[in-house]
Amino acid sequence: MTQLTESEIESIENKLRERQQDLLEEVRNELDERENQYLAAMMGNDPGDSCDFSLADVLVDLNIVRVDRQINELREIESKLAQTKKGNMNECIECGKEIGLQRLLAYPTAMRCMSCQERREQMYAHEGHSSL
Ligand SMILES: [Zn+2]
Repeated sequence: MTQLTESEIESIENKLRERQQDLLEEVRNELDERENQYLAAMMGNDPGDSCDFSLADVLVDLNIVRVDRQINELREIESKLAQTKKGNMNECIECGKEIGLQRLLAYPTAMRCMSCQERREQMYAHEGHSSL
């Protein structure tokens, strides 16, 4: 496995954080005043890396379906950032092979290598067609 350089890791991490901020902004715009205050309180808690709570979980707890898409993407970003922290951001979670820098730059939240991702998509496509 090729080790990513620090600047490569940093640029991918920056992409993730930028996207995270964008999504949070979208979420904030979607929420009404009451929900907004709750969210602001949660986020004001500890904006640093050390906080353990997952914002996506908080949003799910609030049962805010309006921001489903954002929640899903926030989850992906959170799990990618967690993986990044462990130092294996370019490792496929299924086969353990390298994800590849180009793929990570194009899809910073990618958790699987190209072939695992394709297999997975085929599997889902197949499931979609099967009848009970
Ligand atoms: Zn793989």
